[in-house]
Amino acid sequence: MTIKKVTVAGSGVLGSQIAFQSAFKGFDVTVYDINQEAVDKAEARIKGLRHAYRHDIAATDEDFDAGISRLSFTDDLADAVKDADLVIEAIPENPDIKHDFYKKLSTLAPKEAIFTSNSSTLVPSMFAADTGRPKQFLNMHFSNQVWLNNTAEIMGSPETDPDIYKEIVQYARDIGMVPIQLKKEQPGYILNSLLMPLNAAAGMLWLKGIADPEMIDRTWMVATGAPWGPFGITDAVGIRTSYNITLEALDVHPELKPLADAFKKMLDEGKLGIESGEGFYKY
Ligand code: NAD
Repeated sequence: MTIKKVTVAGSGVLGSQIAFQSAFKGFDVTVYDINQEAVDKAEARIKGLRHAYRHDIAATDEDFDAGISRLSFTDDLADAVKDADLVIEAIPENPDIKHDFYKKLSTLAPKEAIFTSNSSTLVPSMFAADTGRPKQFLNMHFSNQVWLNNTAEIMGSPETDPDIYKEIVQYARDIGMVPIQLKKEQPGYILNSLLMPLNAAAGMLWLKGIADPEMIDRTWMVATGAPWGPFGITDAVGIRTSYNITLEALDVHPELKPLADAFKKMLDEGKLGIESGEGFYKY
């Protein structure tokens, strides 16, 4: 099957980026979210990427506008997926929400359609049965600022068809990503298996009062030459997603409870990271 029509479900921080990057590279993309308010937000969020595309990858206004013209938006899931070749899921990192979504999706999407999940921490075998098409389901995980940090980590479940896996590797290439092919399931893939212990260690250094976030970031940046420190990265990922990831980790790492509580406090104060203009830093 050749992928032509793509639906991105969930149009928050990552979904809106994946949707636009796919449209920018020539695919017809339908953006789905749960209600009109979320859909309107996505449209504004995507239009707001113009400066980044121009500045970071020298995209012309013409190319940007052509990408925008290939997008459509809806809050009706049946309508969103009725003729999709590929559904890319980027809904919240919450297993109950994802189980429920895949059960609904399985009855609405064409039977040949491939599903991929952008989940940061949840492996595809958790949802394979819900999809009703375990051979056509795998994870394709993007990094924030997809046009710039262009990795797509691709990870099948033991049931994923190797030909479908290859097709998704090609799709990742077609939309300008570097496909990172994992041979087995690994929660957190390669990138987050490296990043999560770093961010958790940084959070605990801060909460133990060893140093402020700025000093911790500066240490990492000056000593390793990295352009971002762990708190800067956390602001870019978003405090909501960081909170969800920390909650998920508590079963194995109960010592991270103070960090989960600190993220919850930030959320209650409206500090969502870069997307709200304030997280650990002001933007
Ligand atoms: P987000 O909270 O910014 O966006 C989630 C979107 O999903 C919202 O627009 C919300 O309205 C919508 N939504 C909620 N319930 C839904 C449902 N039932 N059906 C459809 N849409 C629904 O989250 P995000 O940061 O974009 O993360 C989404 C997924 O991408 C998660 O699985 C996360 O682990 C993963 N991810 C995030 C990042 C990151 O840097 N933020 C990076 C890689 C992967």
